Amino acid sequence: MRNQERKSRNCGEHEHLSGFSAAAGGVVCSACEAGGFALSHDAYQWLLDAVGKPLAETPAVAPRALAQAERAIRETAEYHANVRLRPVLT
Ligand SMILES: [Zn+2]
Repeated sequence: MRNQERKSRNCGEHEHLSGFSAAAGGVVCSACEAGGFALSHDAYQWLLDAVGKPLAETPAVAPRALAQAERAIRETAEYHANVRLRPVLT
């Protein structure tokens, strides 16, 4: 993820980035989080640190943050590859 993506992918907000939405294509602010799930700062920072590095050099992170990061990656792949259809929140 590039620095320019440090904003809500849904509305462009730069503060309160606490969620992740595969549908929106990345992190979202708390107001947009309803369509995604909570992504901790540690998980978000890990994603930023890990991208572009060899797997052996990815930084250590708490299991909970890693689980959130994995979910973000998995849901993005599923959403954009149409691996699994998900109900649309209304
Ligand atoms: Zn937003």
